[in-house]
Amino acid sequence: MRYLWFLLLLLPWVLSPFPYYLTLLNFFALSAMVALSLYVLTGLAGMTSFAQAAFMGMGAYATALVTLKLGLSPWLGLLAGLGSAFLLALLLGGLTVRLKGHFLPLSTIAWQVALYILAGNLVGLTGGHTGLTDLPPLGLFGIPLDTGLRYAFLTLFLLALLILALYNLRHSRIGRALLALRGDALAAASFGVDPAALRLKAFLLSGTIAGLAGFLYAHFLRFVNPTPFSLEASIKYLVMAVAGGVGSIPGVLLGAAFFTGLEDWLKDLLPLFLGRQGNYETIGYGLILALILILAPKGLWPLVERYLPSRDPGLPQGEPLSLRSPDGPRGEVVLEARGLQKSFGGLLAVAGVSFSLKRGEILALIGPNGAGKSTTFNLVAGALLPDRGQVYLFGQEITGLPPHRIHALGLGRTFQHPHLFPELTVLENAALGTHSRTRAGFFQALLGLSRKEEEQALATAYRALVRVGLESLALEKAERLSVGQQRLLEIARVLASGAEVLLLDEPGAGLRAQEKRELASLLRSLVREGYTVLIVDHDMDLIMGLADRVVVMNYGEKIAEGSPKEVQRNPLVRAAYLGEEEVA
Ligand code: ADP
Ligand code: MG
Repeated sequence: MRYLWFLLLLLPWVLSPFPYYLTLLNFFALSAMVALSLYVLTGLAGMTSFAQAAFMGMGAYATALVTLKLGLSPWLGLLAGLGSAFLLALLLGGLTVRLKGHFLPLSTIAWQVALYILAGNLVGLTGGHTGLTDLPPLGLFGIPLDTGLRYAFLTLFLLALLILALYNLRHSRIGRALLALRGDALAAASFGVDPAALRLKAFLLSGTIAGLAGFLYAHFLRFVNPTPFSLEASIKYLVMAVAGGVGSIPGVLLGAAFFTGLEDWLKDLLPLFLGRQGNYETIGYGLILALILILAPKGLWPLVERYLPSRDPGLPQGEPLSLRSPDGPRGEVVLEARGLQKSFGGLLAVAGVSFSLKRGEILALIGPNGAGKSTTFNLVAGALLPDRGQVYLFGQEITGLPPHRIHALGLGRTFQHPHLFPELTVLENAALGTHSRTRAGFFQALLGLSRKEEEQALATAYRALVRVGLESLALEKAERLSVGQQRLLEIARVLASGAEVLLLDEPGAGLRAQEKRELASLLRSLVREGYTVLIVDHDMDLIMGLADRVVVMNYGEKIAEGSPKEVQRNPLVRAAYLGEEEVA
């Protein structure tokens, strides 16, 4: 299927008698590259940029200066172009990827506008609004690429390579991690994904792709001025990507094709219809965009895709990693919390709680709603920073480490409200667990060098699904799972991560009685194999039949510890639970 894209390369021949369409084809290829840069940034990483045209501008002006002012080869111009787009992305990304919500898009607008003004005003360097003319044509193997036909071969070839590389990226651990990050940064981080670093890398890749498009643009027109690198242009690319469907590669290509043709067509036709001259195409363009966004909020591609035969990715064939590392002696302390304390404003949510967890046991942390269980749990897993106290994992202090570092040491968690990625398949959700057990970086992923590792990751995920009994749903979207199945999937994801210590936050909540029994027997069989489980719940019935030891919390304090029988008899515990029932 993906080799089909190489058929694009035949298009220039077909269109060769029509120079106008060859020009359009080149513009399509360049727009498609920029739209693909937004696929990386928005579709995969969930960020929005209004500065893609500025990155193009970096690529275009860099090569113009290198070739015209320094008289060097355009290929050095390419290096300079990619380099300067990369540097701009590093600067902009370094400053902004940690920003939340609207601040990232807003700051990209600011940079875009500033750079545009700069390009128009540094007249000595950039030629101001008149621009720089007579850039040399690109040449390959001694052939100057100075016609629309020759240039189209280059742009389409590079576009095809880019599509292939991004397809590879999407189907790698990096692509999965980016999608996970977009869905839920905390959940992604708890499986070893470093959110800030990954977002920055996506930003760098995206900026560099746009820079490449800018370089090609400059040598196609052999002329640069600020206009094509304005905020308006940036918005145009964003519109293409979003209207086509920014969540998929065919979507952004469709958007690029549709809007490249549309704009020109409207420019020619509208004055004919309306009988007078004017910039009506902008209005027409706006109306069509509004219609698309109303009728197809996820873009045009999902509408088209419905009519295409669906591809079955098949089950993984690779050799799975083992689900768990060889264990140490049972009964040894694996996790210890000492005097943990945390307040939120004036509320003391956890007030000096200590406990230890021994290998091969199920320790339950129970207490009425609001007792501070989840907070304690988050302090242990690194999702919250304690005000006081320490946490030790396998004897090593982990207090204050970020979740992705703690995870790497062998601790996996689930969430009180399942944090899954509804648009990914069950298998891909589980495969996120393998993130910190696999290695491929951006480059290997783009070049398709991580396929073997990826097969292994998927096979490991599948093995974990088998372990919890979800294998028959492996290829379904996670959004189709019931609550009980979602909780099992979260456990499978932790198993796929190779974690030895499992922290489960209210795994029984929302389950039917039968599902609770199945969950209990799954957890019991896991500890028999050598896993260690810390389970947080307020469901006494589930805990009493399951836990080896119980720690009871109320109002942030530990009020009892012992076997299920002991704590059940404890008057303090009874009072705490009766108190809750009276309120309820
Ligand atoms: P549990 O899991 O035992 O039901 P939590 O640990 O979720 O209890 O909450 C303990 C107390 O801390 C509650 O009173 C809750 O409202 C409060 N709390 C929890 N998280 C936050 C937060 N992020 N900000 C402010 N208050 C919080
Ligand atoms: Mg809770």
